Amino acid sequence: CRPESKDFQANPRRLTPFPVIQAQQSPLSEDGALTAVPDSNELVNSSSEVESTDESSKAVSGFAGFGLPDSLLEALERCGYEQPSPIQAASIPELMLGRDLLGQAQTGTGKTAAFALPLLARIDLEARLPQVLVLAPTRELAIQVSEAFQRYASCTKGLHVLALYGGSDFRDQIQKLRRGVQVVVGTPGRVMDHMRQGTLDVSGLQALVLDEADEMLRMGFIDDVQWVLEQLPTQRQVVLFSATMPPEIKRICQQHLQDPAEVIIRTQKSDATRIRQRHILLPHHQKLGALLRVLEAHGPGGVIIFARTKAVTVTVAEALDAEGMACAVLNGDVPQSLRERTIERLKQGKVDVLVATDVAARGLDVERIGLVINYDAPFDSEAYVHRIGRTGRAGREGDAILFLSHRERRLLHSLERAVGSQIEAMEVPSDAEINQQRLDNLQQQLNDLLEQPVPEDRQQEVALMEEIIQRLSRESSATPEQLALAALRLAQGDQPLLVVPQPQQAPRQGRQGERGERRQGRTPSSMERFRVEVGWRDRIKPGHLVGAIANETGLDGRQIGKITIFDDHSTVDLPQGMPPQLMQSLQRVRVMQKELQISRVAPA
Ligand code: AMP
Repeated sequence: CRPESKDFQANPRRLTPFPVIQAQQSPLSEDGALTAVPDSNELVNSSSEVESTDESSKAVSGFAGFGLPDSLLEALERCGYEQPSPIQAASIPELMLGRDLLGQAQTGTGKTAAFALPLLARIDLEARLPQVLVLAPTRELAIQVSEAFQRYASCTKGLHVLALYGGSDFRDQIQKLRRGVQVVVGTPGRVMDHMRQGTLDVSGLQALVLDEADEMLRMGFIDDVQWVLEQLPTQRQVVLFSATMPPEIKRICQQHLQDPAEVIIRTQKSDATRIRQRHILLPHHQKLGALLRVLEAHGPGGVIIFARTKAVTVTVAEALDAEGMACAVLNGDVPQSLRERTIERLKQGKVDVLVATDVAARGLDVERIGLVINYDAPFDSEAYVHRIGRTGRAGREGDAILFLSHRERRLLHSLERAVGSQIEAMEVPSDAEINQQRLDNLQQQLNDLLEQPVPEDRQQEVALMEEIIQRLSRESSATPEQLALAALRLAQGDQPLLVVPQPQQAPRQGRQGERGERRQGRTPSSMERFRVEVGWRDRIKPGHLVGAIANETGLDGRQIGKITIFDDHSTVDLPQGMPPQLMQSLQRVRVMQKELQISRVAPA
């Protein structure tokens, strides 16, 4: 990394009113190419809309106009980001000016970089005290956000980021805080603990980010958030991101955000009726396996797979290549001349699968694309509409499949609104579906071969083969079917044609039913019942308990079983054998300002 060029600004608060910035959705134009994106104003950097596949252009040129230090641009280059997402294009210029910001966006839109980059750009590296504090509803999100900060700061020497969340060692956190960090990302409870103890000094704080504010509200952290806000210096920048705007969040904005810039991703309906749209919910680590199955079950034909970064396009293409698929990569690193050759090969059927980033596939028009796979979810509905518009060309039918993690589920509804139709749920194709497709393929190949004339240079060889067949049918009692079957088995070799069935996995539980019954594969008998000393009169809801317990213990929310709320206490079912240290740490955890004081009741 090059040494960082420091270009810090004081915290200029602009007092003039600002227009609402809307990264607007534009429908597909007649030829299916996408028309320009924002309908906003001069603050949105227009260079971010320029395609950057030209050989001479730098991959991160889309970020170049924001005035970010070189060290951050270099880190973005390493991350493989080619252009800012709409939320980034709209938010970064505002935050660079020191304005407060209210963003309506969900996970998957690129919102983390939208606040992390401008806040990192303004950090004073000489000062070893917290300058940016991010509050996140869950420890998973806190870790994810702190890792993102670390990635973006990877070329900035002397910048330290710390994640503070329940369940990890308190003393260790204190030591790290003492050593000096400039960015702290944490869950509200643990951040409050450190603030109360004086181990987290907020006197030098320049910016506070409330990430997924509506989730914090849902999980019962809103009073904690209020408390944190009240402890901060009066001169600070506040950034609030929320997918929805319930009245409590609006109230926080009115109270604590000063003349904020507002960033909303608007959506418009588009015509995507010829395209069958489906989605698969799956954890991140299962994506590659699921992709191979989807491709196999889909059968032959052109496919485009969309990924967010250059690195992912390469990883996916390598995996497909290893499976013997005819695939190619199209990303910002691919020079224009090669890009054109690749598209030509796709049109001719020499390449079947193209793995592309959004920018590189912009305007791509290839009739034989029958399937678009959103391997990484798009940033917003506009990108989605553009992506799926690569299939269903020239009046043909098309298929579009979207991979979504559980965290990205909310995106589904805004995409459905944008396309004006349902995006059906589907399962990863089963062994039976894949086998059926393999049998269909075999039949089709045989049929095609029967209809094709034998090429001249193979005629002699084929004539000799024919002699063998005739001799065999004279000398053995084999029927023509048996002979054909023997030939097929010979061609197939040792490799089985069909997928060998794996041992059956435990059946998946349905979504309905009580909490305790829908925990994956966990039977009620492997749960224990606990009592916590908060109830109706503390205004508690089940989500509050799930949030607090999951944050403190690291349990997946889905592992937390049935919750029953009584007037002055509640019961909650947890997996059997919770380690004593965890139980001890749960004692002190506060929900709605009251300690849980958890105690074991009985097996659930
Ligand atoms: P977020 O909405 O912040 O959770 O981001 C979702 C994902 O998009 C993360 O994996 C980011 O690394 C990735 N991402 C964010 N900005 C960009 C960008 N400009 N180009 C490509 N990927 C990005």
